Amino acid sequence: MEDHFLSIEQKVSAGERLTREDGLFLLNSNELLRIGTLARLVKQRKTGNKVYFNVNRHINLTNICLSRCKLCAFGCDADASQAYVMEPETALSIARQAVIDSPEMTELHIVSALHPDKPFTYYADIIKQIHLEFPQLHLKAFTAVEIAHFAKIANLSIREVLTVLKDAGLGSMPGGGAEILNDRVRQILCPDKASAAEWLEVARTAHQLGIRSNATMLYGHVETHEERIDHLLTLRTLQDETGGFQAFIPFPFHPDNTGLSDIKRTTAWEDLKMLAVSRLMLDNFDHVKAFWIMLTIPIAQISLGFGIDDLDGTVVEEKILHAAGAKTATGISKQDIIAYIRETGNIPVERDTLYHEVKVYDGSDL
Ligand code: SF4
Repeated sequence: MEDHFLSIEQKVSAGERLTREDGLFLLNSNELLRIGTLARLVKQRKTGNKVYFNVNRHINLTNICLSRCKLCAFGCDADASQAYVMEPETALSIARQAVIDSPEMTELHIVSALHPDKPFTYYADIIKQIHLEFPQLHLKAFTAVEIAHFAKIANLSIREVLTVLKDAGLGSMPGGGAEILNDRVRQILCPDKASAAEWLEVARTAHQLGIRSNATMLYGHVETHEERIDHLLTLRTLQDETGGFQAFIPFPFHPDNTGLSDIKRTTAWEDLKMLAVSRLMLDNFDHVKAFWIMLTIPIAQISLGFGIDDLDGTVVEEKILHAAGAKTATGISKQDIIAYIRETGNIPVERDTLYHEVKVYDGSDL
């Protein structure tokens, strides 16, 4: 046991890539602080003391979904009391209000359920209209699952869908819908949405078209440790091929109001270990993000000592994860994010979606 830990420490010191066995060993170890120290070393090499965040706003166009995945508390049938679908004008007015409320906002994050009837043109037109009115805003929109859905309903190839959206003003893609990229797990969690192969094909095609994306992992449900590590290795392999992923975002499953509500929420111990192991395994990802909405602010803040270099954004109005019982606020102020980062001894850096630095809060602002 100790020998294996020492060999991992030597590999990390030397900047060598960790193997599947190394990853499994770390996930099965309870030496959390030792794993965290190693992950922090890797983070320091990549981004020093900088910790990133952005000023953004989420828009979820609809919660009516034809897939009805067991893992999800957001998607619902059209006749459910909470069902909604926004008209394009509503999405535009939310964007307008967001710009008034937060003139320094750089990003709109737009993801939705898989509406059974809305055509692809509905989504492309919303991107086009928002982009025309607010060309300064980066539109990070549509998960790989949504893109695969658009291709099916519009009878277009993934490449054609992405090209239409890019021409309309799509800037990049979020990393959702990856869950665990394993067919056994997806058969249980989400059999009626994009398969692992389809998710990867969308990401690969997006990267080939110059559309950067993120990648997520939803852990803490029916998956094994082996399947978690294989998920990381699958993403690492695609990143070797395309270099198109910006950030990796691991987050725990929130069971409330889902079809798997008997599963217990992961502990802070497990969350911190998963974040740190992700940092260690994904040597070709520049950023590993703690999505505070899912993790809670206390765990996200502590994760800055466990290899995390990004706290996501101000978000403002998050619906999807709160439907699953996330107890966090639906938004956070920029001043609070800066204070949380500062308290850990790191330097808060406001970034845009593509990690260009907007402002470095190095103390000269105090
Ligand atoms: S996870 Fe996505 S595809 Fe599945 S039910 Fe929820 S909104 Fe629909």
